[in-house]
Amino acid sequence: MPEPSIFEKSQRGQRGVTFPPSDVPSHGPVFPVNLLRSRPPRLPQVSEQGVVRHITILSKGNFSIDANFYPLGSCTMKHNPRINEQAAGRADFTEMHPYQFDEDCQGTLEILWRLQEMLKEITGLPAVSLQPAAGAHGELTALLVFAAYFRDRGEKRTKILIPDSAHGTNPASAHVAGFAAVEVKSNADGLVDLDDLRSKLDGSVAGMMLTNPNTLGLFETNVSEIAKMLHAVGAKLYIDGANLNAIMGVTRPGDWGADAMHVNAHKTLATPHGGGGPGAGPIGVAADLAPYLPLPVVEREGSGRFVLKASSEKSIGRVRGFAGQIGVLIRAYLYLRSLGPKGVRSAAENAVLNARYLQKACGDILESPYNGNTMHEFVLSARKLQAETGIRALDLAKRLIDHGLHPPTIYFPLVVEEALMIEPTETERRRTLDEFARVLGEIVAEARANPDRLREAPLSTPISRPDEVRAAREPDLRYRWPDGDQAAED
Ligand SMILES: *Cc1c(COP(=O)(O)O)cnc(C)c1O
Repeated sequence: MPEPSIFEKSQRGQRGVTFPPSDVPSHGPVFPVNLLRSRPPRLPQVSEQGVVRHITILSKGNFSIDANFYPLGSCTMKHNPRINEQAAGRADFTEMHPYQFDEDCQGTLEILWRLQEMLKEITGLPAVSLQPAAGAHGELTALLVFAAYFRDRGEKRTKILIPDSAHGTNPASAHVAGFAAVEVKSNADGLVDLDDLRSKLDGSVAGMMLTNPNTLGLFETNVSEIAKMLHAVGAKLYIDGANLNAIMGVTRPGDWGADAMHVNAHKTLATPHGGGGPGAGPIGVAADLAPYLPLPVVEREGSGRFVLKASSEKSIGRVRGFAGQIGVLIRAYLYLRSLGPKGVRSAAENAVLNARYLQKACGDILESPYNGNTMHEFVLSARKLQAETGIRALDLAKRLIDHGLHPPTIYFPLVVEEALMIEPTETERRRTLDEFARVLGEIVAEARANPDRLREAPLSTPISRPDEVRAAREPDLRYRWPDGDQAAED
């Protein structure tokens, strides 16, 4: 049985806290009588123990990186070191007011400035803004920077090129920034088709958004050539940095000729994320785009004093309140500081090693549609299995839940039929990877032996197959008391 809601658990007279009777004399209503409620709001009545049990039971129904292997491709669900939580949770940070004078928060500003400097080094781009609140927001911000740059030069450019393997946020960001998204095909190796790209390049193109390694987990080996082709028509190259975990400390987008990129701090730099939780999507840009970055940026003055620079003639303005998602940025800073340059590089190398190991371990179980050198993630296809048994990627993913494993990303990238996109990350040990491959093999064998049961999976959860689209589009989050919200309880 699913855990009932807190409202259904309500029982008249149950209390978490009991207050003594008020000994403050009442001098009549402070607020106009017509604004006062006629009866108290109808809140659930539950004891403290009842609340603790309710929350604990709900939390146990959750999949999380702290309890389960979570190979959700493109999302980089790595372990989040606890020292980051501890430090970011210090009152020095959490009790700071966003309008505090720069003089009163020099330490925090120094952390932000140092993080900017580290991100410049990692991206190979000379200017960084910590403002954007997530990867998609970083995309939008950088495209607004592109737009401002071209407007300034009196150039009318209307298109952004995007490979067919791209994440859905790329065309969405292009559209919101006022550009038309134009698709570029992938070739048989899963990389950008240069002939198709060439045929779409002209003076109307503002730029291209490229994920590298791409969403098939493959490194776009022609990236420098692509940058040159774009620059030859005056267009810019944007790198979607969601897959930075594969390359950080090894190679730098700025050195490939990229003009801008975002970093998903919550993915690559280890902040707990998912379920719409907090993120940060700092962007780096080339020197000619730096004047257009959003404000404020943190600067160090000659005296060594740190300031939030809040005005500049060409800036696109603010994209977020205050200085950015500081809690996430502090965690990112701590993560980078605790790894150091060598550690950052070995995190990337181990992420790739783990993905290659797991890909090989899964090689006999499902088809690998692209057999290039995979980076930090790889894509399997259940296309043949579906033809043979009717079992789809969705069924396999759902069945993994019964084995205590979080499903991989499915049906993305769109260029692979019945795709399962698997990203083990560097923080998993070999035994966990072996176990995942063993379970996947078992489920595929089950697909052949007992497909009907697989279609009903998961069998071990309170809810088996919710209508996910309807749940996202028409969320109904309000409880209605069976006898009416206004009925007095006591
Ligand atoms: C996660 C992701 C994004 C979007 O980043 P958010 O931080 O979720 O907004 C963009 N592109 C790719 C390839 C991603 O994996």
